[in-house]
Amino acid sequence: MSTGNFKAIIVGAGPVGLTAAIVLARAGIDFILLESRAKLVVDAGASLVLQPTGLRILAQLGLLDAFFSVSSALSILKRCDHNGVDIGETDVPLRFLKNHGIASRVVSRYDLTKVLYDAIPPSAQAKMHPNKKVRSITTTPSTATVHCTDGTSYTGSIVIGADGAHSIVRSQMRTLALADSSTPSSQINDEHPFLATFRCLWIRYPTHADIRPGDAAETHGYDLATQSFAGEDTTVTGVYERLPQPTTERLRFVPEDEEEIVKRWGHLPITEQLSLQDVYDARVSSGMVSLEEGVLPNWSWDRLVLVGDAAHKFTPSTGAGCNQGMADCVVLANELVRILAASPEPRTEDIARAFGSYQEQRFEKTVAGCAQSGGTTAMATWSSWFERLLDLWVAGNPWFLTYRLNRLAAPGIAATPALEFIPDEGLPEGRFPWVRSQGSLMRSVEV
Ligand SMILES: Cc1cc2nc3c(=O)[nH]c(=O)nc-3n(C[C@H](O)[C@H](O)[C@H](O)COP(=O)(O)OP(=O)(O)OC[C@H]3O[C@@H](n4cnc5c(N)ncnc54)[C@H](O)[C@@H]3O)c2cc1C
Repeated sequence: MSTGNFKAIIVGAGPVGLTAAIVLARAGIDFILLESRAKLVVDAGASLVLQPTGLRILAQLGLLDAFFSVSSALSILKRCDHNGVDIGETDVPLRFLKNHGIASRVVSRYDLTKVLYDAIPPSAQAKMHPNKKVRSITTTPSTATVHCTDGTSYTGSIVIGADGAHSIVRSQMRTLALADSSTPSSQINDEHPFLATFRCLWIRYPTHADIRPGDAAETHGYDLATQSFAGEDTTVTGVYERLPQPTTERLRFVPEDEEEIVKRWGHLPITEQLSLQDVYDARVSSGMVSLEEGVLPNWSWDRLVLVGDAAHKFTPSTGAGCNQGMADCVVLANELVRILAASPEPRTEDIARAFGSYQEQRFEKTVAGCAQSGGTTAMATWSSWFERLLDLWVAGNPWFLTYRLNRLAAPGIAATPALEFIPDEGLPEGRFPWVRSQGSLMRSVEV
């Protein structure tokens, strides 16, 4: 496949932007990546759980061993209410192990992004630039130019916005679409497309004897739930608190907001021996974010396209947001290889078709994922009597879990998208075989 002068500009070096960089490098598609932070791999943020979806993608990329060396497999999740009363445990990661050959694993954001960054060939790493905050984007019939706050500009064929929930690429898509009289209003996204009903305080602290590596614990009750995942060295607890009013506005927090939550809820049990106050006092880092939810109706405009949190934002309760963002990159890369195999200089209409096909393959999955994570947060925070009932009597029931995971979830997980242009090897094996890549684009890319 000759890719001519085709070049992608990826904005954002979060886990999804780095996944985009890996798959484009594997496809032989030229790219540059611009990241606003001072470093491409930063030791910041909460931990993440990768589910079989994300792990299947890492497996095809040959990154499972590297990932295993920095992550811990999860097993049992203990659940209690605000008074510390046991409300039943679940064993979802162990069921994943049986069904898909791999259990969910918890990893720090630093370690995940380091594994991803290290998988990018040095020649491509040289095209990834920190300290580049994108400010605006302009387009011509055959190019897109990204302008940064330091006065530099970069021109490419397409822009991939992997710049998170408050994406500048998404807002530039809207600005450009509004200025273009031929864009129908149905193809213009709202200015603030996501709704936040909860805010999250996350706390990282040294792993304690009461919650060993691989352990997970949750505390459920009215208006607030916690989720804790223990890694080898540190554990992260997420505290999800209902906002007084749901809002589409961007919320910003100061350290006093953290202290206010801990003052109000510090007595709550995190494990049998540890309270929220204990883990906050032992913190090595912490932060607060609002938990936006939603799936954008339009994921692209002209030569601009979105992946990950820029396109769809979930609450963290099912540990799915990053996994789904990685799957976006797989589908988008397949579509780009397909159009580049047909022409090294695809026209804007060809690009639009590829972006449309990408969104079509991803949209329903992300809508369902968003509803599931939102529903799980609502249940854990006892948003209504019905959700409390479900949480206490249904969610942890082994028969229900078998039905949910084997009947409802397994076929979708097994059908996690695969790259069509590299071999599909090294997959874990479970009761539900993975839907394998047909290798339909193998001949288009020199491996
Ligand atoms: C507490 C918490 C726990 C979570 N747990 C899980 C979990 O267990 N499993 C899971 O799958 N998901 C989880 N998530 C969700 C997950 O963090 C996100 O889905 C994931 O980080 C999205 O990755 P991303 O690369 O799309 O965006 P981000 O991680 O937000 O990265 C965006 C990047 O773009 C950069 N950027 C932003 N604006 C610009 C600009 N103007 N110019 C240049 N660069 C820019 C940012 O600096 C950043 O590096 C959790 C979220 C939270 C808040």
